[in-house]
Amino acid sequence: MAAVRSRGNRSTEIALGKLMWGAGLRGYRKHWPVAGTPDFAWPGRKVAIFVDGCFWHGCACKKLPETNRKFWDSKIRQNQARDRRVDLQLCQDGWLTIRVPECEVNSHRTLARIIRIIKSRPQYTEDTNTGTASKQESEITAENRPQPSLVARNG
Ligand SMILES: [Zn+2]
Repeated sequence: MAAVRSRGNRSTEIALGKLMWGAGLRGYRKHWPVAGTPDFAWPGRKVAIFVDGCFWHGCACKKLPETNRKFWDSKIRQNQARDRRVDLQLCQDGWLTIRVPECEVNSHRTLARIIRIIKSRPQYTEDTNTGTASKQESEITAENRPQPSLVARNG
């Protein structure tokens, strides 16, 4: 299995994007180039969301395979350690990190939490980097602007 994404898969990412959009959350960027390349980010508010694949991030909802137990164990521990490093780095850079396990993407609690956090975070700078005086409700999203190149996620 080459190039397995350790983050939530593309469809869960899209699902969360739709939920947030439906809840009126706007102005997020996808794969913003800061530590860990968050799946969603509000650069102006310095809020980053990661959708974490349950297996790869050691969510309690998944059991490790019985075979090669040690291998999986150390692999997943490495991933978790990397998550912590990313969170720490973002924290040091003034970011607030939200990690959503794949299995909780569709829960109302998750969306409510995201909304609460976004609303409570002051807007430090514009969320756009277009240089225009755009407002927070800007509808410019990653879908209609050039994508930053996709970074290898599972290095
Ligand atoms: Zn899970």
